[in-house]
Amino acid sequence: MNTPATMRAMVLDRPGQPLRLCARPVPSPEPGQVLLRVRACGVCRTDLHVVDGDLKEPKLPVVLGHEIVGEVVRTGEGAAAFRPGDRVGVPWLGGSCGRCDACRSGRENLCDAALYTGYQRDGGFAELCVADERFCFPVPEGYPDVQAAPLLCAGLIGWRALRMAGDAQRIGFYGFGAAAHILVQVARYLGREVYALTRPGDAEAQAFARRLGAAWAGGADETPPVALDAAILFAPAGELVPKALREVRKGGTVVCAGIHMTDIPSFPYSILWGERVVRSVANLTREDGEEFLALAPKVPVHTVVTTYPLEKANEALADLRTGRIEGAAVLVVDPVAATRQ
Ligand SMILES: [Zn+2]
Ligand SMILES: [Zn+2]
Repeated sequence: MNTPATMRAMVLDRPGQPLRLCARPVPSPEPGQVLLRVRACGVCRTDLHVVDGDLKEPKLPVVLGHEIVGEVVRTGEGAAAFRPGDRVGVPWLGGSCGRCDACRSGRENLCDAALYTGYQRDGGFAELCVADERFCFPVPEGYPDVQAAPLLCAGLIGWRALRMAGDAQRIGFYGFGAAAHILVQVARYLGREVYALTRPGDAEAQAFARRLGAAWAGGADETPPVALDAAILFAPAGELVPKALREVRKGGTVVCAGIHMTDIPSFPYSILWGERVVRSVANLTREDGEEFLALAPKVPVHTVVTTYPLEKANEALADLRTGRIEGAAVLVVDPVAATRQ
């Protein structure tokens, strides 16, 4: 099969700069890797953190994007999990060492040698990309490419965050973006109640949350009508930690779901006392992905997306930054006729 020599990609040369559209050589799959034609790629808040330099270890230049839905074009030596034509999803966790204590105890999300897609490996803001086949997932049938893309990070890291909330019945979601709009549907399916706390005055986001099944929606400056059993912070604002702690009952957990957050202001011990817990959620394990991608079609989770062509990636990032997107932003990457079978 013919693969073109070059592809279009949106490249980050250094933090603080806009992504640059350029032609790059098409990567060749190394042993154990697959070469994918990217069909769609979600735009995640983590991408913004890389652009802003909040995350300090990107390879540069780098192609962002870690919610990739692609079609296998070619497989590297020894790669046997997928065949050309298969539709696969590539998440944030692009590889782990497999040997350290974390990896051997089911916590590969905490591996010090892990490699992340669209951060230390080139991601999906490009026409083609390579991925380690062991870290790719089959995409559930019944989801069009653009609808499936947000499941791969917003969905499955959100799922990990929801699991960390334990058996909480009444759960507060602080921030109602891509992850929350998926997780409210999952939480409802599991018989939980969601209390959505958006940017103050964001009536549209509050209506959106109610439409998707939130029991109540208001501003993060308001007090929900019930004491919460847990809260999940999707918004990267540290001042929400003490706010959420004040709304969570004794024994409850505040889960910080993002990879980066502004500093948490100091707060009185009394709001933590009573065995309240503050914890973060880092990355994902493949087990999280398998569990969530099996669960999503059962709910069934419907994703609401705003699409952009590949070359409008900067616009998608800007809209995400200002909170202008309802649900998730997804880049639709044009098919490359030459790579089609
Ligand atoms: Zn490891
Ligand atoms: Zn992400």
